[in-house]
Amino acid sequence: MLTMVLAVGFHSLEAKSIKLAISGSNEEIKAFEEREITYFSFSGLVDITGGMIDWETIGHRVTYVKDTNRYVFVVGSPYFKRNDSLFNMTYPAMFKDGLLYLPAETFISFLDQFTHEKISWSRGSGTIRIDSEYFNVTDMSISPKANGLLIEIFLTGALAYDIYVTEGNWVNVSIRDGKLNVPRIQMRRDSRYMYDLKTHQQPETGQISLRLKRKVDKWTHKIQNDPPRIQISIADVNFALEPSDTNPQIGPDEKIDVIVIDPGHGGAHYGAIGPRGTREKDIALSIAKELAKLIRKDKQFKVIMTRDRDKTVTLQDRADIANKASCDLFVSIHANSSLKKHVRGWNVFFLAPAKNDSARAVAQFENSAFFKDQLGTKPEPDNDNGSTYDDPILTILNEMIMTEFQAESYDFAMMVDREFRRKLKIPARGVDQAGFYVLNMIFAPSILVESGFISNSSEEKTLEKGGYQKDLAKAVYDAIKRFKAKYESQ
Ligand SMILES: [Zn+2]
Repeated sequence: MLTMVLAVGFHSLEAKSIKLAISGSNEEIKAFEEREITYFSFSGLVDITGGMIDWETIGHRVTYVKDTNRYVFVVGSPYFKRNDSLFNMTYPAMFKDGLLYLPAETFISFLDQFTHEKISWSRGSGTIRIDSEYFNVTDMSISPKANGLLIEIFLTGALAYDIYVTEGNWVNVSIRDGKLNVPRIQMRRDSRYMYDLKTHQQPETGQISLRLKRKVDKWTHKIQNDPPRIQISIADVNFALEPSDTNPQIGPDEKIDVIVIDPGHGGAHYGAIGPRGTREKDIALSIAKELAKLIRKDKQFKVIMTRDRDKTVTLQDRADIANKASCDLFVSIHANSSLKKHVRGWNVFFLAPAKNDSARAVAQFENSAFFKDQLGTKPEPDNDNGSTYDDPILTILNEMIMTEFQAESYDFAMMVDREFRRKLKIPARGVDQAGFYVLNMIFAPSILVESGFISNSSEEKTLEKGGYQKDLAKAVYDAIKRFKAKYESQ
């Protein structure tokens, strides 16, 4: 049982601080008031209630995906799309300080119609109230035991359920009248034990499906009280992974030796452009060449580049090159850009749902090549009612939460971060996560390096320097060796 209260406190017509209370704890999200209308940070709400936001072009069109619902908002327009229908919330969506704001007065009642929870807005108390008592399947845990694995599914009371195991080590739990707290359950993905975790909310049942990494042969289940939960014990029959026929194991074998280096953009795709005209595609290629040269000297590795000259390569082609080579590690090299010219520093990204808008914006920019490749044109940012999306693309965005190699990618990103902090002179922005299309398609641990801000004039110069490019390449190389040492000895 979960009750969420968003309390909006007003003292003036200026920027507001918003109180958010969830089960006794308090947090804050942002809001402001304009002409008697309260605008709340939708980005802030989504960070708490789950789902994914993606910016199609920075600050113009925003897609929000949660469960089976896909919303598209256009900054400055009162129209929004939900799946295939167009709605008018009377007041426009707003963009402020990197966040999407929506009018509480009108949007909340739409949201209430579309979601399982009871959502209401009270202007008097400045409160958005979300009652999630609706959920009766509240959480899940998965933990190793001496002789196997224990999966627990937490309920608010006893519910009838059915468990069946299907090909490919899928354990499916179907709960009658189960109402899944999907964001919470999806948080329990753990790549140490599972390849995949799916949730299906249907009118009569809630289903959770886990594709486990170990073979499911012997298993037992029972319902427990205090707290009410379904316990599933998977007994280890054989620790060795048995790849199923339908889902062949792609990617890292026991050796970590095939390194794919991916210089971002190229050819018709310039990437970001600096104030002096430096092009991201050129910087990415020079750094990638430095890195390739370094790794090639080390005979224990094999290096493959997705491009070694200035040519157009689609994101799909990059992924295909990596996967055909049975890539063990994938490094995509880029340079960052911001409208704020003072912003500086390097970043290392791995693939996971973005946790903040600046990471989303970076992913959106890097993904835009994909949209261009697919659609032939840049989507029209100010088009209110025609969708330029093809459904398959949204399906892919929807599936971005792919976690097969998330733990390893994160670990690799942290190793690169450590080397960068030691070796690079420009500020550290650290490791972050976002939904990069190119990483999503790689069946191996993968990272995307933003080597600095080309939009900052001093960093633009630094990025052009051979010394900086060499330092960066050396840092990535050292991290690769570190990764190999750690994962091959396991
Ligand atoms: Zn880029």
